[in-house]
Amino acid sequence: MSSTPTPFEYRPVDGHDELCCEAVPLARIAAEVGTPVYVYSRSELERAYRAFDAALAGTDHLIAFSVKANSSLGILSVLARLGAGADIVSGGELTRWLRAGGAADKVVFSGVGKTEAEMRAALEAGILAFNVESEEELVVLDRVARGLGVRAPVSLRVNPDVDAQTHPYISTGLKQNKFGIAATAARDAFHRAADLPGLDVMGVDCHIGSQLTKTAPFTDAIARLTELVLELDRGGIRLRELDVGGGLGIDYGKDGDAPPPSPGEYGAAVRAALAPVMSLGVRLVCEPGRVIVGNAGALVTRVLYRKRNDVKHFTIVDAAFNDLMRPSLYGAYHPMRPVRRTDRAAQVTDVVGPICETGDFLARDRDLPALEPGDLLAIGAAGAYGFSMASNYNTRPRAAEVLVSGDGYQVIRDRETVDQLLANERVAE
Ligand SMILES: *Cc1c(COP(=O)(O)O)cnc(C)c1O
Repeated sequence: MSSTPTPFEYRPVDGHDELCCEAVPLARIAAEVGTPVYVYSRSELERAYRAFDAALAGTDHLIAFSVKANSSLGILSVLARLGAGADIVSGGELTRWLRAGGAADKVVFSGVGKTEAEMRAALEAGILAFNVESEEELVVLDRVARGLGVRAPVSLRVNPDVDAQTHPYISTGLKQNKFGIAATAARDAFHRAADLPGLDVMGVDCHIGSQLTKTAPFTDAIARLTELVLELDRGGIRLRELDVGGGLGIDYGKDGDAPPPSPGEYGAAVRAALAPVMSLGVRLVCEPGRVIVGNAGALVTRVLYRKRNDVKHFTIVDAAFNDLMRPSLYGAYHPMRPVRRTDRAAQVTDVVGPICETGDFLARDRDLPALEPGDLLAIGAAGAYGFSMASNYNTRPRAAEVLVSGDGYQVIRDRETVDQLLANERVAE
């Protein structure tokens, strides 16, 4: 199984082996806060950030945490305090990051569809860079910046046309994807951008996909970018930053899956690939998301019912695909463990939620120790793209979130109420 350290381990509590986050039994959190509940380990979050940072030691770099992976204020504030920057994809994420105490001048703003209002807010905040994804966006950003009497710092997102070898929905660096400017058109786009007075062309970036399990796609993409940096330098455009995006995968613990490279292996590969441009004094920017928060979180859910039909056994739990979309959306595998260890025989079951769709499953054909109504189940590696993708489908209030530190915890998000869900609605006149 996984060699990744996990903060979720069984510990003896009152004569039972109870799954704990750090020193806090998950059963205690479930009893006090209710279920479903996302539980995060602060020490694991800090460990993962520091491990990534250490992997890049010796190279001038900025770690811009990808806020969309987990945008809760409680999580962002821990990372901001460690010195992280942020990779944002909306004006809303900018507000979150600033409210969490994050530094504006460590923010890079990605995304193919930035609005003028979002550009203005980011310019007023003084962000580090706009990762611009099209020539039309360049023109609009130039106009918005001149309107405010400032120059917008611009990094052009290049689509390096490499296959990230990941799920097609989270593969972003192929030429058929909507992201970035085609590698073949990039040089011209840089020269056009450099001619626009409202822009300060300062970098190049790429992001080729998520949950990557090999280093070769990263180094192939970086090789394209370093060639471009050298070519632009010869043409009179000197870049200050090279942003390699995010995408490093984590181990979801599925049998037969090769573990992804460690941050150390990733860092070594990235630094080697950057060697051709290091003499130009280019700073490295990384936008990791999943690898920082993924293993720090678990979703704890309670078993409601069981049933069996001619072909299948189902375990119906109180979490659903509105709480954790990844299994339905990407066919993703999440490890699961009963919160109280038992010696009950294993059983193959589909773990499903209450939502009225067949797509509402959290695991299919999973071998789990037999579960009974009232039992708690912990769904692991749920810290990234878990709560941040949650919805209110079926008028389900979103789960609470808890941050554990040592033998204590803090509720960093109260469970949503139905009244909050309805607050912006009115019946027809
Ligand atoms: C989603 C995203 C990331 C983070 O990806 P991870 O796989 O979570 O590391 C980084 N940069 C951009 C532009 C993204 O869209």
